[in-house]
Amino acid sequence: MSVRVGILGATGAVGQRFIQLLDDHPTFDLAAVTASAESAGKTYREAAKWRVNTPIPDDVAEMEVAETTPAGVADADVDLLFSSLPSGVASEVEPDFLAEGYVVSSNSSNDRMAADVPLTIPEINPDHLDLIEVQRDERGWDGALVKNPNCSTITMVPTLAAIDEFGLESVRVSTLQAVSGAGYSGVTSMEIIDNAIPHIGGEEAKMETESRKLLGEFDGAAVHLHEADVAASCNRIPTLDGHLENVFAEFAEDPSPEDLRAAMRSFESPDLHSSPDRLIKVFGDDEPDRPQPRLDRTYAGGMGIVAGGVQPTETGAKYNCLAHNTIRGAAGASLLNGELLVEEGYV
Ligand code: NAP
Repeated sequence: MSVRVGILGATGAVGQRFIQLLDDHPTFDLAAVTASAESAGKTYREAAKWRVNTPIPDDVAEMEVAETTPAGVADADVDLLFSSLPSGVASEVEPDFLAEGYVVSSNSSNDRMAADVPLTIPEINPDHLDLIEVQRDERGWDGALVKNPNCSTITMVPTLAAIDEFGLESVRVSTLQAVSGAGYSGVTSMEIIDNAIPHIGGEEAKMETESRKLLGEFDGAAVHLHEADVAASCNRIPTLDGHLENVFAEFAEDPSPEDLRAAMRSFESPDLHSSPDRLIKVFGDDEPDRPQPRLDRTYAGGMGIVAGGVQPTETGAKYNCLAHNTIRGAAGASLLNGELLVEEGYV
């Protein structure tokens, strides 16, 4: 089966990861790339400041960048769009595509917490995808909108889903986030070299709300947020890729570190092309200094989660987790949602 896809915002940090991940994808054929008016009409090679560690695929390099409108992609005849636009732009233009019947798998933060928009990680809550039926009824769209969570949220939530069986009640998390998470124009070198910035606008609220939606129950009509109390502190540090997070959790039960490690290690992945065979890799007590961004962000091609440092606390447990923010945390997350949309017959 072949599905023609397009990327909205294809020239940015996340857009470039889409290009990289779509190269040789068994199902998806890239047929359209869009960006801002400044880039439209140029070849992809001219428009993109290519920064990923593999060359631009030859066929993509010569593609013409289209304007980000339904008319811009009309000739490409795509079945599915991936969106990596700034959220302000996405909130303006995504509805135009949805009204025209496009299915959109989006990274942008607008509408992630909307009651009729599925916020999904295919390994965690694939059943939430059926919110699309509610969305179509309420909005009158022929298309469908699915969102993946923020990169810092997606780093932590798979580990929480794995240990929720012990009655997760409270989560405290402090992040050490890479500069690529802010996009190409996000943080200047003068701000971040030899520094750490203890504020990332809106990030803490995203972690606190999106986590509870992802872990919530879908009853066929609405998602009921998970009851755990989540509080986050988000920090930017001078790593390039890979968000590292320190998590403190409390439970109704009293799991040992070995119980928590075993639950994470045995967490099952669905049979989707881009989902790793083992989603969560867990380091034991013998390697207390792992995971680290430089050493562990490419686990499972950047699509895996790596955890370690699991230790008891007075009131529960603490551990560290890490994921590649522009792969698992962004483009790869959207791509995986695209694979789920195909699997479930929405594309
Ligand atoms: P970025 O590097 O700034 O790229 C933005 C993209 O959007 C570029 O292709 C840009 O095209 C295009 N664009 C900008 N303004 C536009 C407009 N008015 N009309 C049409 N296209 C426009 O940003 P990014 O880091 O890739 O992030 C993209 C989205 O993903 C954001 O919503 C971000 O919050 C989300 N996200 C990012 C990460 C991450 O780790 N970076 C993780 C999760 C989610 P030009 O090249 O022509 O300007």
